[in-house]
Amino acid sequence: MLRQGVEASAAERRIQAEVAKQLDRLRKDLIYELGDSRIDESPRRTDWQRARMKAYLGRAGDKIEEAYQSISDSAEQGFKGIIEVSARELAFRINQALGADLLQPLNWTQEALARIASETLIQGAASSEWWSRQAAGLTNAFKDSMRAGMMRGEALSQLRSRIEPDIRDIANQALAPRDLFRTARRNAEALVRTSALTVMREANLDVFEANLDVLKGVQWCATLDNRTSALCRGLDGLAWSLPGYEPTGHSHEFPGPSPHWNCRSVVVPVTKTWEELIKDAGGDADLAKKLDAASLSDAERASIGGPVPNMTYEEWQKTQFQVDREEFEMWFSNPKGDFAINNLPQHIKGLLKTESDALVFSRETLAKQKSRHPESKAGEYVRVINKIGYIEEIYNDGPFHARLLTVDRGKSYRIVIKATQDRQEAYLSSLYRQREKDVARVRKTKKATH
Ligand SMILES: [Zn+2]
Repeated sequence: MLRQGVEASAAERRIQAEVAKQLDRLRKDLIYELGDSRIDESPRRTDWQRARMKAYLGRAGDKIEEAYQSISDSAEQGFKGIIEVSARELAFRINQALGADLLQPLNWTQEALARIASETLIQGAASSEWWSRQAAGLTNAFKDSMRAGMMRGEALSQLRSRIEPDIRDIANQALAPRDLFRTARRNAEALVRTSALTVMREANLDVFEANLDVLKGVQWCATLDNRTSALCRGLDGLAWSLPGYEPTGHSHEFPGPSPHWNCRSVVVPVTKTWEELIKDAGGDADLAKKLDAASLSDAERASIGGPVPNMTYEEWQKTQFQVDREEFEMWFSNPKGDFAINNLPQHIKGLLKTESDALVFSRETLAKQKSRHPESKAGEYVRVINKIGYIEEIYNDGPFHARLLTVDRGKSYRIVIKATQDRQEAYLSSLYRQREKDVARVRKTKKATH
């Protein structure tokens, strides 16, 4: 399930960018306020000047707190997206590995998403708590630095460089004041990263716990390289039972979704064997139905049971059919040529009878899309295109032509993809929101192929 690791990092990058933007705005605010503070109107350290500084630091403290509140809110919003994406893919991917639809995806309500995003504990505290600790840390460091500057009788420009170091000062690191905001950004990055992976692990565990008919445990899977922690090196490959998380064949307690800062490990599910499934299906009609529908060969049955096979992070990354949001937005607003999305999934290549490895979104198609569906935003395209590999409702209109139906954020979409007859190229032909009654009509008249 290293898939989630990567998928999260795209969503995570967006959160990181938003956090950096807000910290930057805070820095500018504090500089602006400083210019407004009239601290420099008296040439020497006087009571008047000290009172001005005190008032300024009071306002600065409020601004920092406010900014972190807003950062905390938008990060939480972003985590909801990460949970949604990772959980949606999880069941799909495990089913694909098993060769049968045995796992049920979890459809999160907005309330459930919000709860996981806000209540999941990162190293013992909720993320909002960590944000307010970072706010307090920056406030204290900021006040200390400004007071020190005032004690030294620094001019306004020098005080200003305590908020935003002058590049000329940076050449002489020893004399330059510490860049408080660089530290703040680094701390924020670590928190976003750890929170993202933690909520993702937590959400994955929820998916596993919702599939106890098929799963019997979980296994720790560390990303092994020179950055791997000793803790995760030791946990790698260990298994625990579901439900209850009892150690299986070892004595280490399950570390939970937040083992340490910057942890990159994932938790993979351990499925029951086919024999165990058959036995349990005796008392579980739903499971029996699922197993019947799976129609697996003897060899496939024999291969079920144990941790679901995995790819390495790097291997997986090479197989991704994903659009980078920033890249797409740039092309969307100013298309200079066609936009190719690589790694067209095997099942879609088979469906379109194409040898093309890319799905091309042509400049002409974009122009057509913009004039016929002006309401569609770039972000909407990105989200729907990134789902193409996981869409289950596909209607094959003869060779070289397929329609896909999917739902994103409560809206139905219809996507048409086509391939050229020489099998060399594949195109996105259209993508738009569809009214419910049209969706129903497609379903009635066409047989799903996938
Ligand atoms: Zn770790």
